[in-house]
Amino acid sequence: MSSSSQPQRFIIGALSVLLGIAIIYILTQLPTQKDQSGENTVRNSAVIIQPGEHDTTLADLGTRPDWSTLDLWQETITRDDFHYLLTEIYTTGDHWKNYIQIHDDHAIIRTDTREANATYRLNFNPIISEVSPNRNWNSAGELSPGTRDKPLAGVHIAIDPGHIGGKHAKIEERWFQIGDNKPIMEGNMTLLTGQLIQDQLEELGAKVYLVRGENKPVNSRRPDDYREVAEAKARSLGKTDSETITTLQNLYFYRTGEIRERARRVNLAFNPDLVLCLHYNAEAWADPANPSLTTNNHLHVLLHGALTKREIARDDERFEMLVKILQRSHDEEKPLGKYFIDSLAKTTGLERFNYSPASQSAISIDQVDGLWARNLLANRLYQCPVIFLEPYLMNNQEVHDRVQLGNYSGTKDINGTARKSIYQEYADGVVDALRSYYLENRIIYEPSERR
Ligand SMILES: [Zn+2]
Repeated sequence: MSSSSQPQRFIIGALSVLLGIAIIYILTQLPTQKDQSGENTVRNSAVIIQPGEHDTTLADLGTRPDWSTLDLWQETITRDDFHYLLTEIYTTGDHWKNYIQIHDDHAIIRTDTREANATYRLNFNPIISEVSPNRNWNSAGELSPGTRDKPLAGVHIAIDPGHIGGKHAKIEERWFQIGDNKPIMEGNMTLLTGQLIQDQLEELGAKVYLVRGENKPVNSRRPDDYREVAEAKARSLGKTDSETITTLQNLYFYRTGEIRERARRVNLAFNPDLVLCLHYNAEAWADPANPSLTTNNHLHVLLHGALTKREIARDDERFEMLVKILQRSHDEEKPLGKYFIDSLAKTTGLERFNYSPASQSAISIDQVDGLWARNLLANRLYQCPVIFLEPYLMNNQEVHDRVQLGNYSGTKDINGTARKSIYQEYADGVVDALRSYYLENRIIYEPSERR
């Protein structure tokens, strides 16, 4: 080694040390910078929508949410609660990671996927709060005391009889007829059931709203009013034939537009503590004039949750899910759902239906048979706890025959067993569930002195 190389070595050594320090600095700073800005932490490619075209970043007929509404719930939920509800109840798979990044004390959420870096920052609370979050409904535990006779005193319940019925039953594909028998129309059946439930709940002290009181749409728009949006949607699907467009116009009228109108009523006028969505289930019956019958018959109860890959990608659906999470709707829906599945299984004698455990659109709730979470327009838009009921298969022969008997008081012989009318049986299952739930979950005033 010559003596002249010594200073060079020193310089190289010093530079290496400096370089090392610089690399360490960059490595330690990088995650912090990401963390602070929220940028680059969620996939930030922008979706391009041409003016007048179907907006694929929103659900059909959806509107762009005002994300500042979530400010109401800043620092009201812990990271653990948020993570649990988001990953175990409200979404399937891990597609949420494309839109929501969870950090130690906050989450960064994509708000408008048409813009690369539009995000909302939700701060977590480090401790579990005793106070309920801001919301327009009361859980059972928050109500002032009820009594044994009126366990539902002061409880506001909206009953949503599924579908429209009447002259729209055919267009909404909730109509079939066997020979000269009375046609089966789900919308008419849910309304009759809802009216029976209303009377019984009012006797128990509840304030009850029927979201629809007739077999008519709540929506004032008709298929013609949806021509333009249906055409845009058809173009986005690459199917512009007139049959597709007509089908979409009808769908927007009787389902999407109708449910959105009902949600306006529920959220702006009724503000209930709970919504009951009443349905009768069916298996595909193919030809409505010559329907296929089934020997199956079963029951299941749905809570809100289980957004799929496609659903969490939509800006409004993601926002509506977050409102549910932050209002802690599930804390009320889950115990209620257990009362409903048990009560209806008992009164109807139906076996409980289960989705496949591998389902990408349904999540089992606590492994309770027949109790599942699904993301449906009706249970997502109503901003309070929602219980969605699916008992009976209408194209089961016995169910069909019981519908022919209409509503009646007392019992009639059905295949050798004395049974109430199918409507009364359904209503009793619902009312028993609510009576037990409120008796056991709210404070009941019991005079201690009896003479
Ligand atoms: Zn239905």
